[in-house]
Amino acid sequence: MDKIVRVNMSTLTSSNESVPEAWAGLGGRAMTSTIVAEEVPPTCHPLGVNNKLVFAIGLLSGTSAASSGRLCGGAKSPLTGTIKESNVGGTAARQLARLGIRALIIEGMPPGDAWYNISVTKDGITIQEETALMGAGNFAVADGVRARYGDRVGVMSVGPVGEMRMALANISVRDPEGKLRSMGRGGLGAVMGSKRIKFIVIDDTGTPAAVPLHDPEKFKAAGKRFTKTLQEHPVTGQGLPTYGTAVLVNVINEAGGLPTRNFTQGQFTAHDAISGETIHDTIVARGGKPKHGCHAGCVIQCSQVYNDADGKYLTSGFEYETIWGLGANCCVDVLDDIALADNILDDIGGDSIEAAVMFGVAMEAGVLEFGDGKEMCRMLREEIGKGTPLGRVLGGGAANVGRIYGLTRVPVVKGQGIPAYDPRSIKGIGVTYATSTMGADHTAGYSITTNILNVGGHIDPLKKEGQIELSRNLQIATAAVDSTGMCIFIAFPGLDIPDCLAALVDMINARFGISLTMDDVINLGKYVLKTEHKFNLAAGFSNEHDRLPEFFSLEPLAPHDAIWDFTGEELDTFWNF
Ligand code: SF4
Repeated sequence: MDKIVRVNMSTLTSSNESVPEAWAGLGGRAMTSTIVAEEVPPTCHPLGVNNKLVFAIGLLSGTSAASSGRLCGGAKSPLTGTIKESNVGGTAARQLARLGIRALIIEGMPPGDAWYNISVTKDGITIQEETALMGAGNFAVADGVRARYGDRVGVMSVGPVGEMRMALANISVRDPEGKLRSMGRGGLGAVMGSKRIKFIVIDDTGTPAAVPLHDPEKFKAAGKRFTKTLQEHPVTGQGLPTYGTAVLVNVINEAGGLPTRNFTQGQFTAHDAISGETIHDTIVARGGKPKHGCHAGCVIQCSQVYNDADGKYLTSGFEYETIWGLGANCCVDVLDDIALADNILDDIGGDSIEAAVMFGVAMEAGVLEFGDGKEMCRMLREEIGKGTPLGRVLGGGAANVGRIYGLTRVPVVKGQGIPAYDPRSIKGIGVTYATSTMGADHTAGYSITTNILNVGGHIDPLKKEGQIELSRNLQIATAAVDSTGMCIFIAFPGLDIPDCLAALVDMINARFGISLTMDDVINLGKYVLKTEHKFNLAAGFSNEHDRLPEFFSLEPLAPHDAIWDFTGEELDTFWNF
């Protein structure tokens, strides 16, 4: 029987509830955002007793559906002050699904100074004081938890950055091979740290191998159709499995939209040194894995394992946005320096996108030199990871550093760093950055599909026409997909091959014995966005916060000399649905 589990850190107790009727059709982001909107006071302090940290599995989590193993986390964000959802691969979603836990809600705050771990098993929740792993990085925590609880358990943890409640703190989740994946954006690790939880261990021993299906035959048939579309589409069937997301380095550079030197240029002269093609060849030469899934059952497998020159593990899940940010945006062209910085961020528990945007701003401020990847790594380990005064400033994120050093070129929206696509030369993504309920977030409405990759048609990235409608449709669809537990990359076949989304809806219907239509799914996406928007308005945000920083309108970006030219009135039409 599916349930909602609550952990009250004020009383160090837990309780189970059946899933309320109103939440029965919700999963993933729809579940986390509904719970946060209903139960968290919008004006509360994100690190205070009234915020809640919610983990929710998707509607298809725990099934055999391809690429359905994403887990959503939600809270009020300490980075943005908005509602926040961030999702991650790893083993946790599947394990929570097998335990019948649709959502795990962590509320309150412990008395005293002690830290805790939480154990989730079929017999219930155990909250124990934690001392041995305090101060440890996420790799040591993953090893220590395995030594204590056995090899098959799932782990969600915070590193020192989360313990210190820095705004760039993420939550680390163990993947099937014992490597780490990150619930990255919005400082959710600081919320977990504020509740003084070092790690959550999930043991699904004694549970069925998969969740029950209302109609297994129909599910299997729809699942086959769905998988076929992922394998047939050139992006999910060839591009991502071969080169990973870093295939975009050369593509976005060619489009003049690769933010370089803290968003002052749109192309990086050393782009080849950090490209997906170079990474692929380096991985193969060093005996790494060019293709790897962040969770069991992913048929796309965009992830990879990157080794150092001696053939030893250096990092995995080496994403385009990380490589762009710590590379082009900081003018670092040594791949191994970028990979080491990614590894350190995994260990100390920091979001690589926020860290990369922050370092671009810090370099402009003269805190370190552009191109100095070694100093970047030292600052991550010795300043941020150890919480020195400078480390606390940097760990507050890009907006914090810009404010403290008195800069105007600070690429953030609602306090969150702008990711790897310049909004002046790729305008659809700029609309997403401005209007997303999450602050600047490329995944919220990934217009690169249609602006650059000609997936779902083509809309000229340099012109304004059609961008608001494109971003709106993508944001609605993404909010729905984020509620299923699916990886967002299913959007590529979803936009081009009609049977992809039809098969997805058929799987949900066969799982629960319901009759959802495509319109119902679209309405779910609209409901999620409106719920999140309402929370943000009550938290003190208004249309005036749906804007890009002024410098994008004042500084033309080479090579197209493009500027950001949407008016506030135009952007406000985004919410006309
Ligand atoms: S495509 Fe990549 S990000 Fe998506 S589920 Fe697979 S490995 Fe994870």
